Amino acid sequence: MSVLNLVRENIKNITPYSSARDEFTDFNTEMVFLDANENPFETNVNRYPDPQQQSVKQLLSEQKNISTENILLGNGSDEVLDLLFRAFCEPNKDNIITLPPTYGMYNVLANINGITTKEVILTSDFQPAVVQILAAADANSKLLFLCSPNNPTGNSFNVFEVENLLNSFEGIVVIDEAYIDFSEINSWLDRLDEFSNLVITQTLSKAYGMAGIRLGVCYASTEITSVLNSIKPPYNVNQLTQLRAIKRLKDLEKVGTEIELIKTERQNLIKQLEQIDFVKKIYPTDANFVLIKVDNANKRYDQLIAKGIVIRNRTKQVLCENCLRLTIGTSEENKKLIDTLKTL
Ligand SMILES: *Cc1c(COP(=O)(O)O)cnc(C)c1O
Repeated sequence: MSVLNLVRENIKNITPYSSARDEFTDFNTEMVFLDANENPFETNVNRYPDPQQQSVKQLLSEQKNISTENILLGNGSDEVLDLLFRAFCEPNKDNIITLPPTYGMYNVLANINGITTKEVILTSDFQPAVVQILAAADANSKLLFLCSPNNPTGNSFNVFEVENLLNSFEGIVVIDEAYIDFSEINSWLDRLDEFSNLVITQTLSKAYGMAGIRLGVCYASTEITSVLNSIKPPYNVNQLTQLRAIKRLKDLEKVGTEIELIKTERQNLIKQLEQIDFVKKIYPTDANFVLIKVDNANKRYDQLIAKGIVIRNRTKQVLCENCLRLTIGTSEENKKLIDTLKTL
């Protein structure tokens, strides 16, 4: 299968927007830039940012052991996902496959782009139902979204099932690894070379503690990254974001320490939740949140709001009846949550 056959006709031979600066990437030599109608007076951000974000990509490339050509950055992973729709899904014709209960953004993006969503519900232990997924797929099924670790269930998908889908699904398989850094399971990044139809998305919003800067990362074959590059807005990652990302990526030790603290807190929180009688089930988690089943999700949700604690009520999602999703906070925040739950 050549992934290029999956690309929309109008995108295949598109002429990307070309900024004059693209041709002068060597920023070290002294050049006079009178090409972009920028204001010449220095504000630190008076120049357009690097459209290819080379410094950020260089760091990611070294840390993840992958070529910069296999990396595409976006304004959050939400932009990366949207680019995938625009590259591969023909409005009013193509469809995508999602596996509820999962991240709501896939379906929102499908709606915005005029794309139908085929939903194949996860098995009762929250794993992909491979046979049903392949049965639901047709020639217009362009994207299959696997969120692993999955939001809101928290679990990772079994390697065997994912491998099976990568080999058998005849479209692009997007593995959303927003929570991978909280998991003991390996990223699919190690196996990117094996599957030309594999797209992995990660983000600086969760484990890296930078939701505010909006930086999403896409890892894929060069065939795919070059298509996405040809349609992305030229300056989609702003200068401030690039600078803050570089600073953070150079301090991986701190990131690692925070992840370990969150994982310790996760264990503590689970132990405490086990003591609360209206908590009926605590689902296994590889993420920085935990899904629990309670006696009455709406009631417990409202009670917590009244006490000033906001969590996520997932009771309306399939397989999540009476389920609440709790993000792991600081030890003080988690203690406040537990103390409050104990008073209900
Ligand atoms: C939080 C989250 C993201 C992150 O999106 P950004 O746009 O990068 O902030 C992506 N996927 C899932 C499943 C998430 O839960």
